[in-house]
Amino acid sequence: MTLTEKILARAAGKARVTAGENIWVKADILMTHDVCGPGTIGVFHREFGKTAKVWDRQRVVIIPDHYIFTADSKSNRNVDILRDFAKEQDLPYFYDVIDEGSGGWKFDATKGLLKRQYGSRYAGVCHAALPQKGHTRPGEILFGTDSHTCMAGAFNEFATGIGNTDAGFVMGTGKLLIKVPETMRFRLEGKLQPGVMAKDVILHIIGEIGFDGATYRAMQFDGGGIAGLSMDDRMTIANMAIEAGGKNGIFPFDQRTAEFVGGRTALNGTTSKYEPVVADEQQTFVSELVVDLDKLEPTVACHPDPGQRKKAKDMASVKLDRAYIGSCTGGKTSDFVEFARVVRGRRVVIDTFGVPATPEIVHDLQNTRWGNQTVWEVLVSAGVQMTENAGCAACLGGPVDTFGRMNTPLKCISATNRNFPGRMGHKESQVFLASPATVAASAIAGHVADPREYVSN
Ligand code: SF4
Repeated sequence: MTLTEKILARAAGKARVTAGENIWVKADILMTHDVCGPGTIGVFHREFGKTAKVWDRQRVVIIPDHYIFTADSKSNRNVDILRDFAKEQDLPYFYDVIDEGSGGWKFDATKGLLKRQYGSRYAGVCHAALPQKGHTRPGEILFGTDSHTCMAGAFNEFATGIGNTDAGFVMGTGKLLIKVPETMRFRLEGKLQPGVMAKDVILHIIGEIGFDGATYRAMQFDGGGIAGLSMDDRMTIANMAIEAGGKNGIFPFDQRTAEFVGGRTALNGTTSKYEPVVADEQQTFVSELVVDLDKLEPTVACHPDPGQRKKAKDMASVKLDRAYIGSCTGGKTSDFVEFARVVRGRRVVIDTFGVPATPEIVHDLQNTRWGNQTVWEVLVSAGVQMTENAGCAACLGGPVDTFGRMNTPLKCISATNRNFPGRMGHKESQVFLASPATVAASAIAGHVADPREYVSN
């Protein structure tokens, strides 16, 4: 069996499963956020009754992150609905925007968009927050009401996005009926070269198979090149499995996974026991693709979908209006560090927005020093508009007052993960997906640029 099949078989209480089989599996974690949480709660109460209790309060994780820093009253209210539910159910893992006793959540637009407006428990973008807060464990099953839940496959778990109806059912029962996906294997060999990042790996792969090339399939990333990839790198790759239509993306377990998970579960006091899966000698794949990491070059997915692959070096004629670094995919500490390495001592020439995925990342950037400047200061000195209000921000467009949202038809290069029309705001805007290094080089050049011209090693 493949990694995915092994996890699913265990969760179904079966010795083995095969692709195409429909099985009931036990959920380990159910995650929801401010956009889908209220709907999920509504389904749960409707189907299980007004006084029903969730199947296991330790396994429901609620992370408001999407439409948070906006004066839109309906969006603010969604956070209050989550808080009421967390109180009603006595949920230990609700990462509220505000601290206890501060009343309801209301964003104060008069304070501006850059200065922190959240309390001490706020966790930021759910997919980055889940591992940071110790909710991702090898061998487990994570369901989330968000398509990029697949990011947690980096930790050798089966993680997938589900709709509100399924999530309401999981909330009440802890189970879900799913079809075992076929597995596509992506064997990564070699080592990424300077200026080339994990984002280039996944953009290359999606370019090979198309934005629907993995529809309802597991994308298994393995091979000798995995050892050289950090957990952040693996998260970036697994995150975008859904951009090829994948059911999930998954990585093997190794010492690096163990260290990360061990550290994070200890930090937040979450369950530290887990049982990773190792693929069998005999695995059945629906396809196999070898990716030579040494040969990859900075890659861009052009408007209007993540499969429109081109090399950054061939796109200098594409003039840009805006650059954006942020999101679960591209707003991690390592993403900002690579971005800062490119812009250090230089100035961006187009509007450039930076949105760290989580408050912890804000803290990292504001406390990591390069000489007499912090990384945060390097970014600000280069002209990047950095907000402390970690969250999804303009990755998903959001209400019109969202930081970095495109309210006019602009061309933007972005470290985010999705570029279908209207994704970051105006429906006639164009989004070019690229690595943080490529976004940085392009922000300096004012057109799509190859970051290798700006990094020496
Ligand atoms: S940062 Fe973007 S992709 Fe990630 S969860 Fe938020 S809206 Fe979705």
